Formats: sequence, C-alpha cells, structure tokens
Amino acid sequence: MKNVLISGSTKGIGLAIAQELKASGCRVFGCGRSKCEDENYLSIDLSRTENAKALYLAAKAKMGSIDILINNAGVYDYSPIEKTDPDTAQRLINLNLTTPCLLCKYAVEDMKQNMWGRIINIGSISGAVGEANASLYSAAKAGLSGLTKSLALELAQYNITVNQINPGWVDTDLANEALSAEEKNETLEIIPQRRFIQPWEVAKLCRYLISQDAKGLTGQSINLCAGLSCGA
Ligand code: NAD
Repeated sequence: MKNVLISGSTKGIGLAIAQELKASGCRVFGCGRSKCEDENYLSIDLSRTENAKALYLAAKAKMGSIDILINNAGVYDYSPIEKTDPDTAQRLINLNLTTPCLLCKYAVEDMKQNMWGRIINIGSISGAVGEANASLYSAAKAGLSGLTKSLALELAQYNITVNQINPGWVDTDLANEALSAEEKNETLEIIPQRRFIQPWEVAKLCRYLISQDAKGLTGQSINLCAGLSCGA
C-alpha cells in the first residue's frame, strides 16, 4: 500500500484526488484550512512556510513514510500588478511555490530511502501561457514548472518521477468564486471544448501518473485544459 500526502484535500481538485487514490488502494493523509475530525487530516495554514515541516511530520507520524506527494493547495489572485499588496503577494508565493518546494525537500528523503517515489505538482495553464491580471499567480505556477523539471533530473536515478498537471478552468469553488455568471459565460466562449474541466478528470490523471505504467514520464507538464492552451 502506497502512502500519499496531499495538500488541500478538503474540496475541489484535492478532494477528488484524495478520493480517487483512496479508491485505488492508497493510504492518504490530507490537509486544508477547514476543521475535520479525520485522524489522517491536519488543519493547517500552508501560506506560513514553517508549517510545511509540521505537515510532513504529522503525515509521517501516521503513515511511517511518504511514497507519493501531491502539491495541490493553492490560491488564485486576480488583480492588476499595481494593485498587488505585498503581504498578499508573499502569502500567495509561499502557498503556491515555497511550501511545495519545502514539502518536496522533506518527502524526498523518504522516497530516496525507498528508491521509489512520485511527486505531482498542480500548476495551471496560467503559468504555462500567462494570464493578464493574474501575474503573481502565473509567476508562482511557472516557478512550479521549473521545480518540476529540475527535480525530475535530480531524482531520476532514485526511481522518483516528478510531473505537473496544468489545469485550465476547473469546476471548483476557486473558479466559481473568481468569475461572475457573466464572466463564466465569456470564459466558456474562449475554451475550445466550451466546458470547464471536472475535478475527477485531474484525479484520474494523477492515478495514471502514480502508476507503474507511467514510470517513463517525468519532468513533464500536462495541460489538462479542454484545449485552452492551444490558442484561438
Ligand atoms: P479550492 O479552493 O476548491 O480548494 C483549495 C484547497 O486548498 C482546499 O482544500 C483548501 O482548504 C486548501 N487551501 C487553500 N489555502 C490554503 C492554505 N493557506 N493552507 C492550506 N490549505 C489551503 O481550489 P481548487 O480549484 O481545487 O484548486 C486546487 C489547485 O488547482 C490549486 O493549486 C489551484 O491553483 C489549481 N488550479 C485550479 C484551477 C481552477 O479553475 N479551479 C485552475 C488551474 C489550477
């Protein structure tokens, strides 16, 4: 049985991944902002980077070691650059980039010892192609791609793969809170498949990426975006 640590598992994409990997026979330790009585869950704020170690230690205490790390927790910020507040900027970069780096740092020790591991970073097509008025978010997600490629090279000899999924718009609270009904309709017009991705589609791709069949796939960013990243 493989042990999975997933950040942001209470709803949206993270919840779908947690459910899918549990159904596939994995033991899952999750976390998020909300409270929950599940013993394999920690309520924690990952925009505070010192909490990355606390999360790793809590997961390790429950499961023994980490085989699979899914860096999923993230927040979106839509504002022009001149409106960027420095504290908000720091928290966004911490949560979307620095904490994932630190969780890799800790989990990789276990994976190297076991000579097996899987890391999946949840990025965004905003980081792959850029998004006006979401520059900070896009910068953090593009940074995650650099982490993904570099770690893939660094860890290949240990049988550890590192990949990234870049969703386009996904039907979750994050998207539904960012867009008014009118903006959602406008957005649908520019998505080639005229639909939002469903969280389970990201979860199924994670299930494939952790499988033995995907052992040759590393350092890749997969745009799961209903065609949005291909251009008009
Ligand atoms: P969501 O808002 O539905 O869920 C976010 C999860 O992260 C929740 O479990 C929440 O508790 C947790 N979280 C948020 N802030 C946290 C913090 N400070 N500390 C710890 N946990 C925290 O979001 P989602 O749409 O499921 O997004 C998941 C990931 O997918 C994010 O990294 C996001 O950037 C990315 N993504 C989402 C979309 C989209 O359209 N929904 C598109 C591209 C990428």
